[in-house]
Amino acid sequence: MVQCSCGMAHDIGRRGFLGALMAAAVDAQGAVPVSAGPVDPALIEDLVVANHILYDQGVVDGFGHVSVRHDRDPNRYLMSRSMAPALVTADDILEYDLNSTPIDQRGRAVYLERFIHSEIYKLRPDVRAIVHSHSPSVIPYANTKVPLRPMNHIAGFLGGGVPVFEIRDVAGPASNMLISNAALGHALAIVLGSHAVALMRGHGSVAAAQSLRHVVFRAVYAEVNARISSEALRLGEPTFLNDEEAQAAMKTNDALVDRPWELWRRRAEGK
Ligand SMILES: [Zn+2]
Repeated sequence: MVQCSCGMAHDIGRRGFLGALMAAAVDAQGAVPVSAGPVDPALIEDLVVANHILYDQGVVDGFGHVSVRHDRDPNRYLMSRSMAPALVTADDILEYDLNSTPIDQRGRAVYLERFIHSEIYKLRPDVRAIVHSHSPSVIPYANTKVPLRPMNHIAGFLGGGVPVFEIRDVAGPASNMLISNAALGHALAIVLGSHAVALMRGHGSVAAAQSLRHVVFRAVYAEVNARISSEALRLGEPTFLNDEEAQAAMKTNDALVDRPWELWRRRAEGK
C-alpha cells in the first residue's frame, strides 16, 4: 500500500506506482474508476475454466462471453478481453466497473456487448455471474411465439417463464442487433427481470445466476432444454414442468452444480 498525496492509501500491486498515481488523480475527478484490488486467484481460475467449458459444451463459439462479480467489490466485475472464449487465459481477464469501463485496459480490445453484464449487475444484486451466448437451439424460441419452457427437471430454472427481448422496441428497426450501449443493456435487464434466462430475438440469450458454476449450468441446460423441446414439439403436444415442479427441481439442482462442473472441466481442460 502507498500513501498518496490525495490522502488515501492505494494498493499499487500490479499497476505500478505511476499508474496508481494517475488512476487516483483521474478518479478524484470522477472520470476513471480505480481497481477493487487483487482478485482471488481461484475465482480467476474458475472464470477461465467457465470460458472453456462453455465452448466445449457448444454454448459459445467464437462469440459469447461469461462474467463474474469481483470477490472484493460488488460494483466491479471480471470478464475476458475481446476474444474467443476457448482461448481465454488468466492474463486475459479484465476488471470492469458497472458502467462497463475497463479499469486497466492496457490497449486491449473489449467486448462490444459488455453492457449486458453491467446493466444486469446493477439491477440484480442477487446475480453474481452472467453468460451471454448465441447458442443455436434457443434461437427458434426467440424468433417465434413458441415459449421456451422447462422440458425436464434439470431445466427447472426456466420455470416462471422465459422472457424475450425485442431490440426493435428500444433501438428501432435498423439496429445491428448488438447490446452495444448502456441504454440497450438496461432495457435487456428490465426484460430479464427476476428470471434466470432471457432470450434475445434474432440474436441469442442471457443467463444469470448466483455463481459461476450455477450460470454455466444454466447456460448449458437452457441449450439442451431447447433442443429436446424442439424434438418433443415435432412429435406432438409435450407436457412441460409446471411452475411448482420447476421451482422444486431448481432448488434440488442448485445444490448439485459441482457435479457436472467437475466433469465438464475435465473434458474441457483435458485433465
Ligand atoms: Zn451477442
